Amino acid sequence: MGSLVKSNISICRGCGCKLDVLQRVRGLCGDPECDRKDVPYQESKRREWLLATIRQQIPNTWNSTLPIALLPRNERLLAPLPETRYETHRSYLLKIVKEARTCYENGGEMLAEPSAPVNGISSIDAKLPVLSTACGLCRGECCYTGGNSAWLRPATIQRQQWFRLGVSDKRIVDFYLSYLPVTSFEESCVYQGEYGCTLPRTLRANICNQFLCKELGNLVSVLSENEGTSCIAAAINNNSVECMATVDALGVLEFAIP
Ligand code: SF4
Ligand code: SF4
Ligand SMILES: [Zn+2]
Repeated sequence: MGSLVKSNISICRGCGCKLDVLQRVRGLCGDPECDRKDVPYQESKRREWLLATIRQQIPNTWNSTLPIALLPRNERLLAPLPETRYETHRSYLLKIVKEARTCYENGGEMLAEPSAPVNGISSIDAKLPVLSTACGLCRGECCYTGGNSAWLRPATIQRQQWFRLGVSDKRIVDFYLSYLPVTSFEESCVYQGEYGCTLPRTLRANICNQFLCKELGNLVSVLSENEGTSCIAAAINNNSVECMATVDALGVLEFAIP
């Protein structure tokens, strides 16, 4: 990406102390506290650099003055789900199903499922088709957090209300396992297959159904601020633009891979 932070300033951006010639390159004195305070500055520089880079890559036929919303991008490799991860998930499912049953048998108290951040997106805007479009451009970067548990909790199992119909623990575990993809993204959620999550929405954790990342929050803000128009959504991995699209509230209008 080249240097984002070259500077000729002679005082530290963090503490204001005088800098020697080498320190002036970064504009920081080297104190870890100054480095820590500098993160937002670095982030805004990176953002400026990315926006300028994207502007250079916009196809000639597009309206290059449209605002740009940055999206993350999953670029992990697809591979057969390893046996060890399958087994880890199976053991995990057995554990949470057992916990959910114990709770049910001890009086049926409903467990609470954790909720997820929505980054300022209203419940009405959360239904905008462009959000799933954006998640498609991103290819599910947030799903790496699912790991071998897929965020499933005893409360997720209890919500299904299968115990009262006499469904056995093994049947529930096998039912979940039947949705595991043969090929999934490495170092991501066990259910993240090539075309997205392979678990039906009703079987997923509440967190998975609710979560909206801060980039989606920004996309909604950009579209709201430019009412009646569209914006460019650019999916970025490791400072490289993997794909971009002009989008409006209903989804993709034009698509390009730079
Ligand atoms: S919520 Fe954000 S990180 Fe997750 S898939 Fe959608 S755009 Fe990507
Ligand atoms: S269960 Fe689905 S939505 Fe949830 S983290 Fe895994 S792949 Fe993503
Ligand atoms: Zn300093």
